[in-house]
Amino acid sequence: MQTSDATRTAPPALDCNRDALFLDFDGTLVEIAPRPDAILVPPDLGARLNRLGAACNGALAVVSGRDLATLAQFLPEFDGVMVGSHGAEARGLTLDLPQADPAAVQAALGAFAAQQSLLFEEKSHGGALHYRTRPEAAAEIAAFMADLVAKHPAFEVQPAKMAFELRPRGASKDRAMAALARLPAFAGRRPVYLGDDTTDEPALAWAGAQGGYGIKVGPGESAARHGLAGPAEVLQWLAEGEV
Ligand SMILES: [Mg+2]
Repeated sequence: MQTSDATRTAPPALDCNRDALFLDFDGTLVEIAPRPDAILVPPDLGARLNRLGAACNGALAVVSGRDLATLAQFLPEFDGVMVGSHGAEARGLTLDLPQADPAAVQAALGAFAAQQSLLFEEKSHGGALHYRTRPEAAAEIAAFMADLVAKHPAFEVQPAKMAFELRPRGASKDRAMAALARLPAFAGRRPVYLGDDTTDEPALAWAGAQGGYGIKVGPGESAARHGLAGPAEVLQWLAEGEV
């Protein structure tokens, strides 16, 4: 069942004794910036996540579309579970996730971006074309991406906020979370997922289907029952759960 801004309710208090916490990064823990490398990360965010993870007995994961190396640079202090590349890689864990060699699609994306004056964000699993500065180019980029995955079927297109991304076919945050949920730290806990983007919707739905709940961050239709307005409210909600 889909919810709207009007029908979503405030989330219950986080219960670290029974919840497993899955947190998207961009747009959820930090505000979106005009360029993906221009985000402002609160200096204590990593330490706060470590404290919260300890309070939840290790049942906390950051689950991002960014690749692990980039994510780790933004959260240098965080030492908990980190899933990157839309669920294609997990730090320090072997989760049997889909892989594909991205060299050929990265070359094609880079060339198209240069020709079209778009920002190309290379990621270890593929890459994203951002069109925030050229919104009128959306349809043309979508057509290019569709053509590219037809030639490289090991990849699929992931639409995101003012971006289209290629990721290994079958990689997804909900699939990675299902794998994480079998690990001892997460098993038997109620999954709670927080995310802001279309890429998060399957994960928000998955958390609800597993007896937990999703929290949609920001506006828009969602599979989540609960909502929070933005990263500031998310950090406040997490702080209340920590005590
Ligand atoms: Mg996000």
